[in-house]
Amino acid sequence: MSYEIATIPGDGIGPEVVEATLPLFEEVAESHGVEVEFTEYDWGSDRYLDEGAMMPDDALDRLEKSDAILLGAVGHPEVPDHVTLHGLLLPIRKEFNQQVCERPSILFEGVESPLAGYEGGDVDFVVFRENTEGEYSDVGGREHVGFDHEIAIQTSVFTRQGTEAILRAAFEAAQEREGHLTSITKSNAQAYSMVFWDELVEEVREDYPDVEVESLLVDAASMDFIRRPEEFDVVVASNLFGDILTDIGAIVTGSMGLAPSGNVNRSGEYPSMFEPVHGSAPDITGEGVANPIATVLSGAMLFENVGEEGVSEDLWEVVREVLADDSAPTPPDLGGSAGTEEMVDALSERL
Ligand code: ATP
Ligand code: MG
Repeated sequence: MSYEIATIPGDGIGPEVVEATLPLFEEVAESHGVEVEFTEYDWGSDRYLDEGAMMPDDALDRLEKSDAILLGAVGHPEVPDHVTLHGLLLPIRKEFNQQVCERPSILFEGVESPLAGYEGGDVDFVVFRENTEGEYSDVGGREHVGFDHEIAIQTSVFTRQGTEAILRAAFEAAQEREGHLTSITKSNAQAYSMVFWDELVEEVREDYPDVEVESLLVDAASMDFIRRPEEFDVVVASNLFGDILTDIGAIVTGSMGLAPSGNVNRSGEYPSMFEPVHGSAPDITGEGVANPIATVLSGAMLFENVGEEGVSEDLWEVVREVLADDSAPTPPDLGGSAGTEEMVDALSERL
């Protein structure tokens, strides 16, 4: 098989981690008889600063032809966050109907957790976050009502289609994993959206009788992500709650430099996009020390998404082995001194 992968290296350490990892992806793919062609798009904040737009007008048409998208990071000290978000990330997620954001949280062997008493292998869960609607629906307004009454209204939109899509994705994952799903809500305080969510959980679970369902309020869940992370398997949450919980999930596993994510189009009609959870990290840009593992694992998720399980498994495996091996190089974010290239070389040597 042969795949066209669009790459958007983006800003800051984005290009460093993407450029370093592409040869590894090619190497692993080739060993499985899989051909990959990378098409690089140099979109991002530098383009915005030069030309006033993060991407060209025909960007989505160009991306649409690819089988999947690999993104490094976007973000720049001189460009406001809403510009990078609304100028690149959100249009791709929305136009390609990437309703599912999938973020695994794994505490690997050989990695120290900030949680006392936890060691490698103890934590392994995945959060499915609704990615295109909910609390981030961009519906609302600001008004002056009457004399001296200024109000702002921000409306959450939960569609049956969107909510069912994220729930089904999560149930399917739970079925393939340990069979345990935790649904996160705030139904006690949000009588419309979250009660609707709960009702849909009850409806959808009929189709997945083997999956055990637990329902948690988001405040309790935030506590439990720290108190008993080992008990989670698949977690499903709305856009806002998922956003918050996935940051807790990322830090519990030791470093932002290890956390991958996918923005998945369920129908396969449009390409899905994979990216490390971390941002552009301006504080370490240009030093060649960014940990490439989050990008390698994002690539692993990408290959699984296009149907190349073997390539995906090999990438997960080399990461596991290198992290577990005391004699292998360790990047600075995990307490060592190995640079980006050295880490990729170490992974490559394991193949
Ligand atoms: P952005 O505005 O693009 O989100 P940021 O600085 O807000 O950038 P991150 O890029 O996520 O956020 O960085 C948070 C911290 O984690 C920084 O100190 C950064 O150096 C560190 N970090 C992020 N990614 C990596 C990585 N791949 N390797 C090592 N350290 C990283
Ligand atoms: Mg940030």
